[in-house]
Amino acid sequence: MEIDSRPTLVIIGNGMVGYKFCEKLVENGATAQFRIVVFGEECLPAYDRVHLTEFFGRLGTADLLLASEDWYLENGIELHLGVSVESIDREQRVVHASTNFHLQYDKLVFATGSYPFVPSIEGANLPGVFVYRTIDDLKEIADYSRNVKSVAAIGGGLLGLEVARALEISREEGGIETHIVHRSSHLMSRQLNAEAAAVLQNKVEEMDIQVHLNKQTTHIIAEGKARMLHFTDGPPLAVEMVVISAGIRPRDELARACNLACSTAGGIEVNDELQTSDAHIYAIGECASHNGICYGLVPPGYKMVDVLVENLTEAQKRSGKPLQHFEGADTSTTLKLMGVDVAVFGAYRSEDARITFVNDDVYRQLVHRDGKFVGATVVGIWREMGKVQQAVAAHQRLWFWNAWRFQRRGKLWREQGMPGVQNWAEDTVVCNCMGVKRGELSRAYTTGCTTVAALSEITGAATVCGTCLPLLEELIIGLSTGSDAREYSPHLQHSWKGLLGASFIGLFLVLIIYFFKPIPFSTTVQNLHHTIDTLWRDNFWKQVTGYTLLGFSALALILSLRKRWTRFSLGDFGTWRLVHALIGAGTLIFLIAHTGFRFGNNLNWILMVSFLVLNLIGTLAGGITALAAKQRNSAVVHRWQNWLVQAHALLFWPLPILILFHIIAVYYF
Ligand SMILES: Cc1cc2nc3c(=O)[nH]c(=O)nc-3n(C[C@H](O)[C@H](O)[C@H](O)COP(=O)(O)OP(=O)(O)OC[C@H]3O[C@@H](n4cnc5c(N)ncnc54)[C@H](O)[C@@H]3O)c2cc1C
Repeated sequence: MEIDSRPTLVIIGNGMVGYKFCEKLVENGATAQFRIVVFGEECLPAYDRVHLTEFFGRLGTADLLLASEDWYLENGIELHLGVSVESIDREQRVVHASTNFHLQYDKLVFATGSYPFVPSIEGANLPGVFVYRTIDDLKEIADYSRNVKSVAAIGGGLLGLEVARALEISREEGGIETHIVHRSSHLMSRQLNAEAAAVLQNKVEEMDIQVHLNKQTTHIIAEGKARMLHFTDGPPLAVEMVVISAGIRPRDELARACNLACSTAGGIEVNDELQTSDAHIYAIGECASHNGICYGLVPPGYKMVDVLVENLTEAQKRSGKPLQHFEGADTSTTLKLMGVDVAVFGAYRSEDARITFVNDDVYRQLVHRDGKFVGATVVGIWREMGKVQQAVAAHQRLWFWNAWRFQRRGKLWREQGMPGVQNWAEDTVVCNCMGVKRGELSRAYTTGCTTVAALSEITGAATVCGTCLPLLEELIIGLSTGSDAREYSPHLQHSWKGLLGASFIGLFLVLIIYFFKPIPFSTTVQNLHHTIDTLWRDNFWKQVTGYTLLGFSALALILSLRKRWTRFSLGDFGTWRLVHALIGAGTLIFLIAHTGFRFGNNLNWILMVSFLVLNLIGTLAGGITALAAKQRNSAVVHRWQNWLVQAHALLFWPLPILILFHIIAVYYF
């Protein structure tokens, strides 16, 4: 028999993170480098725990699996299912599994996840009282719930609401009365403030789910079919089934038993390289405690996977690159609870300034620091959510007009205010959970992944929380039709040269007006300037040039409104923008005719300067918009474009008042 000379890499736990670790090892060719052996206590290979609740809906067990047993076989990974590792001899570097199987390891990775926390409630082990973590738990709940008419979820956090959602799905089939019992004063108290939680509670109650706040369960008593929940105060609640969803705790019992350093709060202590207190042993996922934090979410676990795979594989060593470090992870959470979006991003709990939009249906709060997005809390549907998440991740600037629009209407951007996803910079992250960038998605699209499902399958985007699904849809529409974010879309490409030319002429005229000396008034009739001089000497011609200038300006304004009016079907947005730019240049010619390069004094000077600055910014906006059509991947270009377009629009508004005063002054004096 051939002896396997490869060092042995043992992975304890075949959950979401354990599986992702295997997948990345395969992708990085590590199966040639290591003999990889996985122990999974559950009888199924790793499945999508995030979408576990779908088990009550449309998805069966097979749909939830992340990979079949064959996948492990085909990739040379030894998978032992239904086998738990019971002890570890660190000195001999041997793991002892439940099947009396002993295996020597060279490297050992803990990916043991968490277990559901059950508070010390007397009666928590009664029949009809469940926890909610595995497919087996769900099967038991589904079986039991067939014969009950009421159920209570203990815990009003993320998990409790997930349970309520599951029960709501099963209720649709069987009609179960559902309660949420929560010991805090509002739902999701770890993530949401009271006001946001109130909006969520409204939604939950609209679904006929009864919420009981400030209720600490002390014991459960079986009275026939009923399970009586008793609280520290108030009357008991009679239900027929109970699901305890009061949080999770890291599974570190095995690590503690072999004296690996563990955090007092729970979790196997790891350093930035995810190494435990034993140099041969690592921990990733929910069981790892990094800087005292155990992350109860998938994305941080996947981030740990990336770091560890990089550090363990030969390719890394050969490349001579420094070791990768895990530097902590964002705890942004996005989920859909009973059709209600609930999300917290970035520094949503910080003490920074915030602006809020709230009504009966939605709660939206933006946290900003030094004028930049740093966090957000969202309850209820918000079409801009994906973009807000990006804005928070990229610490984009929160302009006061966006803040103003947000506070009035709950919307941050005009439809054209942000580039469509297809025009985001290559390295902008679209799927935060999986770290998938725009460039990767566009490349996948060009290789034939033209549906959301295909994009998702190839890149992994939208496979965790699903918030970026609308962004994927937008990307596909944008790439396939060239429409969507109209300011930037490919069908405008035809007008970019014209726009650049018109902007250039405009800029040239602005500079001429600024730098050219005023044309002197003629002193004799023989003067060469005699004819031109009439323009600003003769009242009639002054009025002609003045009113033409006014007319052109009004036309430019109407066109700038028109190009944003989608229902007007004649010509496309790009064409009308070009016309707008040409008329803008035209106004400058009439400005010369009207003033003879004279700035005048007081009001006239202000009017002249305002008009020139407006045109200067307009020409720059036009120029950069033309450039943006060519530099579709440059975030800098798009950012400048956005700023200049907004500034151009803003600078327009003082003009009507100044012009009005100018006309009154002219006629009065
Ligand atoms: C209902 C629900 C909804 C969720 N929703 C979200 C969400 O929207 N977004 C999000 O980011 N996260 C969500 N999560 C959390 C997410 O599922 C976890 O973060 C993720 O599963 C952690 O992966 P893991 O591999 O670290 O642990 P697990 O997936 O728990 O896997 C650990 C595996 O190790 C096995 N194991 C433990 N000890 C041993 C041993 N001694 N020997 C052998 N095997 C062992 C366990 O049986 C388990 O199968 C949700 C969780 C639940 C339950």
